[in-house]
Amino acid sequence: MAGRTPRAAGLEPGPAVPAQVSYALVSRAAQAQALDILGGFHPETDEKQLEGFGTVLLLGPREPGFWGSFTQSREYRDGTPNPMDRWSARVLTGLAVAFNAQPFFPFGGPPYRPFYQWALRTGRCHPSPISLLVHDNAGLFVSFRGALALQQRLDLPPAPPNPCSACTRKPCQSACPVSAFENGTYAVNKCQAYLAQPQGAACMSQGCAARRACPVSATYGRVAAQSALHMQAFLTNGA
Ligand code: SF4
Ligand code: SF4
Repeated sequence: MAGRTPRAAGLEPGPAVPAQVSYALVSRAAQAQALDILGGFHPETDEKQLEGFGTVLLLGPREPGFWGSFTQSREYRDGTPNPMDRWSARVLTGLAVAFNAQPFFPFGGPPYRPFYQWALRTGRCHPSPISLLVHDNAGLFVSFRGALALQQRLDLPPAPPNPCSACTRKPCQSACPVSAFENGTYAVNKCQAYLAQPQGAACMSQGCAARRACPVSATYGRVAAQSALHMQAFLTNGA
């Protein structure tokens, strides 16, 4: 198996691994931590960095409710940097220990894990008309707090249709005040220059207008305070 399991890595042992690990069981455990499984896939048997794993599950905020749960955490309250990444590392590692899985994170590299490609492989994320990933439930607010690679090959629920197929108006394409997506790619410099000005206050405090314009994002339940945290990190760190 590529990579070390949490036990091999010397992490705290969790409760005994349930004999019958299932998608529903992992989903319930994730939900108890204000997370949802946003998709999963089965790695190829000869896939180098996932060799020996039968299933990869991608986890992200469960809405509504994620922000209220996260802001009660010690990571949010201790006043030190990167609270959400530190929270993710603790919570995902705990879930990994419980299911004898390997956690992977979209931060903290190198090595950097191919979360974008993994998301596409779940069939639940798609490239939107503005190039950002769109998810059937989270819309353009899709984000991953980590992934669990399990040894078992779990049955995965079928993926819902791509929401963009039925979206005739495609408001994501015209919502950005500086047309940062006008060529079908994301002009990051143009966006950040706008955010640094007073006119960018709405995006900074409520989240990206293009992401908010998506009707799927609008029903996801992401609160503005969480978007503001991400926007500040994006403007400060470029990520
Ligand atoms: S606004 Fe419509 S086209 Fe754009 S990402 Fe959302 S569902 Fe897809
Ligand atoms: S954050 Fe605002 S300026 Fe940047 S891409 Fe989104 S809508 Fe455009």
